[in-house]
Amino acid sequence: MGIVVIGTVAIDDVVTPFGENLDAPGGSATYFSLSASCFTRVKLVAVIGRDFPKKHIQLFKKKNIDIEGLEQKEGKTFRWEGKYGWDLDNPQTIATHLNLLQSFNPVIPQSYKNEEMLFLANIDPELQLKVLDQTQAKIIAADTMNFWIERKRNKLLEVLKRLDILIINEYEARQLTRESNLLKAGKKIISYGAKKVVIKKGENGALFVSKSGFFTCAAYLMEDVLDPTGAGDTFAGGFLGYLSKSKRYDDSAIRTALAYGTVMASFAVENFDIKGLAGLTSVKIQKRLKVFKRICSF
Ligand code: AMP
Repeated sequence: MGIVVIGTVAIDDVVTPFGENLDAPGGSATYFSLSASCFTRVKLVAVIGRDFPKKHIQLFKKKNIDIEGLEQKEGKTFRWEGKYGWDLDNPQTIATHLNLLQSFNPVIPQSYKNEEMLFLANIDPELQLKVLDQTQAKIIAADTMNFWIERKRNKLLEVLKRLDILIINEYEARQLTRESNLLKAGKKIISYGAKKVVIKKGENGALFVSKSGFFTCAAYLMEDVLDPTGAGDTFAGGFLGYLSKSKRYDDSAIRTALAYGTVMASFAVENFDIKGLAGLTSVKIQKRLKVFKRICSF
């Protein structure tokens, strides 16, 4: 079983209190794919321009990520400029250049059609809907962000009706539901149509809400966080990657999947852009999971 992912493959300009990282590889689908490919087969759908560096495409190949659905076109790659403050939380978006995303018409290749899971990573909800119309996947999950909640709320609500799992951060959950309490926000999202919700809370962990109850998971606390960009997408990659590998979706599998998501995110934030994920091995992941289990048990 594998995962088809549609999202952004981007070039990012990121500033954190620890440095400036310009022309860096990024995008929701990039982080997700690099993370999920540590667990399962990943098939990518995205658009890039001729300006996207070849070495990052080589990395996708090296990680066995299927790039048949990665279209390279004349024009410029999606670009995001963001800045983090000392809390390393919710970044300020300085600029979003949609570029080729504006005319992107995503097509799921025939060879992707048997995969059981679809992840609609953060991208225009209209594109998420176009992909939903082409899929027969059994499990459908999605992410979004403030940019789309503000501009395309109605389309996003259409997406939510068709989801098994929504994975968003606490700020997005509050903005989407107009609730400050996250448990209430999670329940409201379920009333919108998504069957289950994961609310990511940065260094405060994650909250899982379904019709049958809720579960909280701590974060893997790091002393040296350099760049939180992509932590959410990397979390989603670990979470869904584990579920895809284990072929189980019951509450116990979901708890373990949250732990894997958390551990994967910790690798992403300890270095700039995708550097923490590029050379990651299962041995390193298992080792950190063991430590995480020890930290959380009582
Ligand atoms: P995260 O830190 O997990 O929320 O994801 C960061 C990534 O999201 C960056 O690498 C950006 O390129 C990408 N990104 C930023 N804004 C958007 C947007 N409006 N739509 C899709 N992807 C975005």
